[in-house]
Amino acid sequence: MEYISTRGNVGKLGFIDAFMMGLGDDGGLLVPREIPVVSAEKMEEWQHLSYQELVLAIFSLYTNGEIPQQDLKDLVYASYGTFRDPHITPVRKLKDDLYLLELFHGPTFAFKDIALQFMGQLYTYVATKQGKKIHILGATSGDTGASAIEGVKGKEGIKICILHPHGKVSKVQELQMTTVQDDNVLNLSVDGNFDDCQRMIKELFADLDFKATHHLAAINSINFVRIMAQTVYYFYAYFQVVKETGAKQVNFSVPTGNFGDIFAGYLAKRMGLPVGKLILATNENNILERFIQEGVYMPGEFVATYSPSMDIQVASNFERYLYYVLGEDAAEIRKRMEQFKSEGKIVIDGEALAKVQTEFGAYSVQGKECLETITRYESSNGYLLDPHSACGVAAADGFTGNQEITISLATAHPAKFNEAIALCGIEQPFPEEISALFEKPQRQTRVDGTLPSVVKELVAFYTG
Ligand SMILES: *Cc1c(COP(=O)(O)O)cnc(C)c1O
Repeated sequence: MEYISTRGNVGKLGFIDAFMMGLGDDGGLLVPREIPVVSAEKMEEWQHLSYQELVLAIFSLYTNGEIPQQDLKDLVYASYGTFRDPHITPVRKLKDDLYLLELFHGPTFAFKDIALQFMGQLYTYVATKQGKKIHILGATSGDTGASAIEGVKGKEGIKICILHPHGKVSKVQELQMTTVQDDNVLNLSVDGNFDDCQRMIKELFADLDFKATHHLAAINSINFVRIMAQTVYYFYAYFQVVKETGAKQVNFSVPTGNFGDIFAGYLAKRMGLPVGKLILATNENNILERFIQEGVYMPGEFVATYSPSMDIQVASNFERYLYYVLGEDAAEIRKRMEQFKSEGKIVIDGEALAKVQTEFGAYSVQGKECLETITRYESSNGYLLDPHSACGVAAADGFTGNQEITISLATAHPAKFNEAIALCGIEQPFPEEISALFEKPQRQTRVDGTLPSVVKELVAFYTG
């Protein structure tokens, strides 16, 4: 498997090189040259695999044998050994036609752990094998930062700097990031929102001199490895639900902001997983819903919501999807992205828009509906949803396009977002790991939202 850029100007890369490059050197996003398609026999076999075995089977399609099988196996088992549930991503039945896929049983209680535990292992592996310095740089709306730090804190040869929007992450998210005392961790609390953080990160990755001098590595979903790791639970959930119900095809409802998680679902579908609709669930920051309804991709006004991890206007992974929907035409993507830069929007219509609308449904959940959904499922099903998962469930309920079973992704544990839960008048017990955070001292550096200020802190940290 070779990797290429959506903008066509990156030579064919191997798996490790694509992992290390993160953002394409031409500013595009890396994608596999051809999406591997899983045969019917393989699908039959895969039904019986454990989560870890399924990870190995899927990763092997992407890694080109660049990592010896036993090493890959060790990395995978170490990654998922930190999860609290033996099924890693268990499925719960909420109603006859609605299942919940719990993705929050990793160390930081959000779905980011599924990819980032593995990426932490893989960075450590590359740092050791190749004797390389690795300086991870990432932006977070809250969960990616905590999870990435957890994956590499204290690791030899690795430093990690995470930018988060000051005052715009939940208390637990902030504590998870800032109570880590290891010297290889720097938290920058940036005046601005997530889009500002992500834009600065992308600018730094696009500065190839800076990137090389400071050994930058990416953990955001601009890194293809994150997407690859997230395809696994779509397969695993499908197999579990099919076993129980005999369904032939399912929908997935996916709370998304950066188009990362739902792009992993799209990739799983392209690999041959029988997915009906991918239902895109957003909050008031509904740029992606508008794209699916009208074909217009245009960032609007940023809104702070009860589901802060989805408070995103500019969705990094959108470019990957655009690449496929426009027929894998890199020249066209270059043109469209230039246009986006100068005019602030991308418009598609005709056949391409029709394709988007057969593949996706979209539903944006307003704050009031989010809280009502939490309250309703708590009282009628005895199940406490976090506000992101509630958006997914509300979208699944609101989407009546067909009669198929829908699997809705539960992307975080409710204890991470007690702000919203408390507004519902619900008192929840905190897991011990989370309660313990409130006792620990915090370490973070506040910076204004300008690139030079960020660069100053970064350089001091990476060269110090
Ligand atoms: C990151 C995150 C999302 C959105 O994920 P995308 O990669 O933007 O699709 C949803 N819910 C939670 C809890 C998250 O942390």
